[in-house]
Amino acid sequence: MLDLVDLGKRSFSAYRGIAPDEQMDEVLSLAERLRGARCLQLNATPYGGGVSELLRSGVALLNDLGLVTDWQIIRGDQEFFHVTKRLHNALQGAPGGFSESDKATYLAQSRLNSSHLSEDYDFIIVHDPQPAALPMLGGRKGARWIWRCHIDTSNPNPEAWEFLRPFLSAYDAAIFTLPEFIPPRFPISHVAIQSPAIDPLSPKNLPLPEKLARQVLEWIGVRTNRPLVTQISRFDPWKDPLGVIAAYRRVRAELPHLQLAMVGSLALDDPEGWDVYRQIRDATADDNRIHIFTNLVGVGNIEVNAFQLLSDVVIQKSIREGFGLVVSEALWKGTPVVAGRAGGIPLQMPEGVGGLLVDSVEQCAEAVLHLLQHPQEAHYLGEQGREHVRRHFLMPRVLLDFLRLLDDLAHAKPLEPRGLACTTPPCASL
Ligand code: UDP
Repeated sequence: MLDLVDLGKRSFSAYRGIAPDEQMDEVLSLAERLRGARCLQLNATPYGGGVSELLRSGVALLNDLGLVTDWQIIRGDQEFFHVTKRLHNALQGAPGGFSESDKATYLAQSRLNSSHLSEDYDFIIVHDPQPAALPMLGGRKGARWIWRCHIDTSNPNPEAWEFLRPFLSAYDAAIFTLPEFIPPRFPISHVAIQSPAIDPLSPKNLPLPEKLARQVLEWIGVRTNRPLVTQISRFDPWKDPLGVIAAYRRVRAELPHLQLAMVGSLALDDPEGWDVYRQIRDATADDNRIHIFTNLVGVGNIEVNAFQLLSDVVIQKSIREGFGLVVSEALWKGTPVVAGRAGGIPLQMPEGVGGLLVDSVEQCAEAVLHLLQHPQEAHYLGEQGREHVRRHFLMPRVLLDFLRLLDDLAHAKPLEPRGLACTTPPCASL
């Protein structure tokens, strides 16, 4: 068996009064129809990055709603994750080859992973390209399969895409964040468009008293009586950390006390992160107002929460982005954001809401300086952003979209006798 991720308990009813009522009501009625369905969520890492954030909250809530849901992690060594990171980058359009030996590594590990999958599920949801080949290589195990692609695959490197594409024909449905992300000649006909969302009740997003937040930041070395801008991201070239540093230097020429925090996690499936981390260190060695933090030195959810709450501006200067959960996280705290016009970020920051979208280092510097010099406007944008997130980007809306898709799939084929409507979980089969 693959490694199961331990989950806490969540209560869906705790979101009443936070998320919109109509979303709450519809989730409950769909969950009733799907009660007892057995789901497996499969991805490559239990921490670091947006997918694990989503699953940590979403899987526990699905269980509370009566769907019997597990979360498992595929296995792989460093070599496999180097290959899958190259595949990930290539699918986001990075140039460079995907060699025969890369393909062989990917296939061998995928076969191994598929042999560890059990036949216990009605629905298997596979996240991103790392585990994507499993149903084709190991059989469908009697489940309905959904491929959830979180990245921007609108313009994939053709070689990588032609390699992956045949494996996807084993799926019943796919989910993308934006319709533009669907790659050419996509082989799955049932496609749903669903954006991710944040959990307002996770430690990262719970309301943190300001005094406590200040103590947390002071404790790790940030001066809370000086202006602060922050980017929180995996250390990844697509998040343009060096661009953030260049923009910060321009702003600091005007505001010499400005501090920059670069907060970055290093994930299990992301060996490239270490190289980027070293590049950032080298680029900032001479500047003691730039603070660099990683999850390896104890920067966790509370620290991220405090950074998002107390930064004057949060930056997310992505060049390519799937959704960018960090944007909604910052807006949920009412903090204005300056972000790259990439992927799902504009969905979270429509014109006049949340902050300013930028397309270059120069624009990023101008936007940050503008918001720092116009705190009332910045405050107003942040408040608008918070309301936008409340309506569109909180966890109940993700559950709603997801359950609608399961409901469609469950009722697309006739149910077997002990089908979804059974009252005592788990249903034997659909
Ligand atoms: N994150 C974190 N610590 C870090 C860096 C990132 O907890 O040092 C979290 C961040 O708060 C967000 C997620 O990782 O919840 C990143 O998701 P996003 O969609 O922004 O980007 P991805 O990493 O999926 O490309």
